[in-house]
Amino acid sequence: MILEKITMTHLKRIIFYILNLCILFNFPVFSVVQTSNVSTPSIVVTIKPIYGLVAAITDGVLTPTLLCDKRGSSTHTLSLAPSDIRTLSEASLVIWVGSSYETMMAKALLKAIPTDQLVTLEEAPGLRLYPQRTGGLFSVGCSHCCEHTHANDKKTKSHTHDHSHEHMSIDGHFWLDIENAKHCARFIEKTLSTKYPAHKDTFTANLVKLEGALNAFKLELLATLAPLRSQIALIDHDSLYYMENQFGFTIKGVLSEEPDMPPSPKHLQKLKDELDANSDEKLIKVFFFNGEGSKMAHPLLQKLATEYQIPLAPLNYEGDNLSLSIDTYETCLRHVAMQLLNGFKCVQNSSVQQSMP
Ligand SMILES: [Zn+2]
Repeated sequence: MILEKITMTHLKRIIFYILNLCILFNFPVFSVVQTSNVSTPSIVVTIKPIYGLVAAITDGVLTPTLLCDKRGSSTHTLSLAPSDIRTLSEASLVIWVGSSYETMMAKALLKAIPTDQLVTLEEAPGLRLYPQRTGGLFSVGCSHCCEHTHANDKKTKSHTHDHSHEHMSIDGHFWLDIENAKHCARFIEKTLSTKYPAHKDTFTANLVKLEGALNAFKLELLATLAPLRSQIALIDHDSLYYMENQFGFTIKGVLSEEPDMPPSPKHLQKLKDELDANSDEKLIKVFFFNGEGSKMAHPLLQKLATEYQIPLAPLNYEGDNLSLSIDTYETCLRHVAMQLLNGFKCVQNSSVQQSMP
């Protein structure tokens, strides 16, 4: 009995010391709770095409959440609602493009999410990033830019005009370049595998599958969009630079810096001069605008289209109304491909039509 008593006392002491050591060295004492957290991380993604990449990598482990529908606004100018902030702060990880893209929400998002729970894709290694185009028909009025927030000073540059201020320099539509999408996917996989090592094998295997699918998809789009080579268009805001360089068409100028924003009178006059010069040869085939379904072009754009008899065509590169799946990235870009072919009135490739949801 005495021996038993001593043993029990010793055991209690040993357990007490072990617990203290665990607390001292921050060892995971409550492994069951930790394991359950690790097994079900909750990942929130801000835009639909990137959702597709994340869903493909996390397939078999979890289903990510798409932050919000755009409520009819452009993502560039969308502010976060209180419910969005709640969704973000409850997530274990938030994946966004960066302040060059989700410009208006950047400040609130950076405030709501601790740095170690945020994956900023514009920081992915290997990306081919283009500066925002300026000059010619790309230099526009800047009525709203003073509100912009820049998360990363390295990626901003000074810009002088009537009211000098910092101006973002990266074109944040870089994920429309399929090679860049692969770099984003690798960055996402690496981050997830480091954060959730229990699922590393699945994430890595899924990445290999996704890279193969994106390689095949690039070849498909190159064939589908071959008729666009040398075609020329205007657009409401400068969103297709990365697609132009992949597929060989040209956007000659923009209406304004963001969708739904009016241009400065000076820029509008420059556009009218260009459209006047185009009236004989009609090299500019179409004026694209960010929209889908019943969404109309900016009234000013409609007026220009009527005045210069230039067709308007919607372009929905974020996949509004498209369903969520592990193929959403490809689905979004196929949809853009169809809209480009329609807008330029090029012969449609049946594979694009058939692959639409
Ligand atoms: Zn855009």
